Amino acid sequence: MGLIRILDPQTANSIAAGEVVERPASVVKELTENALDAGATTITVSIRNGGILSISVTDNGCGLDPDDALNAFTRHATSKIWLIEDLDTIGTLGFRGEALASIAAVSKVTLKTRQPGDTVGTQVRIEGGELLSHGPTGCPEGTSILVEQLFYNTPARFKFLKKDSTETSAIAEIMERLILARPDVSFRLLANGQELVHSPGNNDLLSAIYAVYGKRQAATCVPITGESGPLTVSGYAAMPDGARHNRSGQTVLVNRRWIRSKTVTAAIDEAYKSRLMKGRFAFVVLKLDLPPALVDVNVHPQKLEVRFWKDGDVFSSVYQAIVAALNEHSGILAPEKSATEEHLEETSENVITQNMQLPNETPKPAYDDISATYGPNNNILSLHDKAADAPAEAVVRTDKSDYSPDKSDQSAPSYEQLTITSSSYADTVLKVADLTEARIIGTLFDTYVLLEWTDELLLIDQHAAHEKIIYERLRQARREKREQMIQPLLSPQTIAVTPAERIMIESEQPFFQSIGFDLEAFGNRSVILRTIPDLQSARIDPELALRTALQLLVKDRPSGPEEVDELLYQIACKAAVKAHDRLSMLEIQQLIADLIPLENPYTCPHGRPVIIRQSRLEIEKKFKRVL
Ligand code: ADP
Ligand code: MG
Repeated sequence: MGLIRILDPQTANSIAAGEVVERPASVVKELTENALDAGATTITVSIRNGGILSISVTDNGCGLDPDDALNAFTRHATSKIWLIEDLDTIGTLGFRGEALASIAAVSKVTLKTRQPGDTVGTQVRIEGGELLSHGPTGCPEGTSILVEQLFYNTPARFKFLKKDSTETSAIAEIMERLILARPDVSFRLLANGQELVHSPGNNDLLSAIYAVYGKRQAATCVPITGESGPLTVSGYAAMPDGARHNRSGQTVLVNRRWIRSKTVTAAIDEAYKSRLMKGRFAFVVLKLDLPPALVDVNVHPQKLEVRFWKDGDVFSSVYQAIVAALNEHSGILAPEKSATEEHLEETSENVITQNMQLPNETPKPAYDDISATYGPNNNILSLHDKAADAPAEAVVRTDKSDYSPDKSDQSAPSYEQLTITSSSYADTVLKVADLTEARIIGTLFDTYVLLEWTDELLLIDQHAAHEKIIYERLRQARREKREQMIQPLLSPQTIAVTPAERIMIESEQPFFQSIGFDLEAFGNRSVILRTIPDLQSARIDPELALRTALQLLVKDRPSGPEEVDELLYQIACKAAVKAHDRLSMLEIQQLIADLIPLENPYTCPHGRPVIIRQSRLEIEKKFKRVL
């Protein structure tokens, strides 16, 4: 007897289900995408115990007629592609016709649906892939799908479910992405009856950002726009004071789909380079729109990764769009803004995560408890009762009385008028060009230059300023690919070296030559230096430049052009004016004049501020002249 058997359809379905339905969040993803494909403008997702107990997704979309309500559960039944050619120009989110069949194979599903204009709706109930009932029912227009007891019949999968809060987070993340991808749709997520997030659906991306990340984050955002051939770039980028501790604030949407892209991430990093401190990440919500034929969305089974027709074009468009927005709006932060900066850092969690702060965790029932979990007679209430004395899974507001079940049909929240426009951000910053009107007071601690400007005291970190001047000039020189990056010394300089240094210089002679050091051994203990690299700074000590180069080379020999630039920059910084060098009035004026033409004079190469402002009011408060 052969060993090969054809699996019965139910087994086959539940195996295939594993690909589509891994966890509650995948159910939410599939059902919400279906709702969007059905043209819904409001979608409510309500989960219990991280979606393990139940998930309901209710939409006001086009609904299904009685026949289709049943057909929808057949594998490879889809209304979304008719011909194989359609696969190339898929405009909808789902297209495999597998989700509903897969979900129904591993849970208990109740579908209620009514097409607009129809007098009655249809209800379909399926358990573990078996049809229980199919018939008319009264229900609102649109579709609502209730998925209960996920994986009740597949213990192996049930076992892999995580804690309720982990599953809730995964669901929240799906909702977060949808809210940002579709500001035209109002989404609402309830966990155990508590509202975690509610977006207005007013087709305004900034309102969507507000809904997900809160007002403070939204207030740091400026709009970005860009175009390159068939590609348009839009969305919002946060100014440096809106940066976060990780990449959780980076959203990339390609044709309204949330995706990951190394190219886009690299472009974001490059655009923020030298604007953010180490360990800080840009906050951006980037929308890329381009003809579907120019982007391959099917690279990754979860449809997360895409392939662009021209990576280089995508990189430069994103980079330029962000840099243009940042340059337009950056400046010396208003005194109040710099003061609130730290606060944002601390509370940079998004709204959903904040709403999810769990006082106590209800542990996920163990695998052995599966029958207890879902009850001997599959009675949902049994677990519900059991969980009733346990603390709520998620708490949204401190004011619990705020929630009542009949609020479930409340309309979208009215968002406080967002007055965050590009111009208002620009109003709060001072441009470096304004410094020409400031009165130079002098220097403080031989480190800061003090200026008086209208009702403010400005402080320039002279070392940070100087570093930035050198940094940008070097970058500029590289961009213009200037051949002459060499600075001849007025007279050759003899420099004493150790035997070890001599060996290093001799073996790395071609490299030294290539970056602009023309040197020659002179006896055993010295070298003659004729030229140094042109470090774009008037005050460079040649000997210090050579010593720094030697030191850095011992540590690490640069390979690519980027690393060579970094090396030159470090040499320049070490060999140039330091803090603690007293600047003359003339030098201060020169420093300010050198800052003005820079692309971004506001942060040093490491992202620290170059100039800060102190208001007269703050000073007068300290003297108790005002209260
Ligand atoms: P797919 O989305 O890949 O077509 P699904 O199994 O997710 O496959 O859904 C099967 C079909 O059921 C869809 O093609 C659609 O016609 C219908 N459908 C599913 N959800 C909804 C909904 N919320 N509103 C209207 N029709 C729906
Ligand atoms: Mg689908």
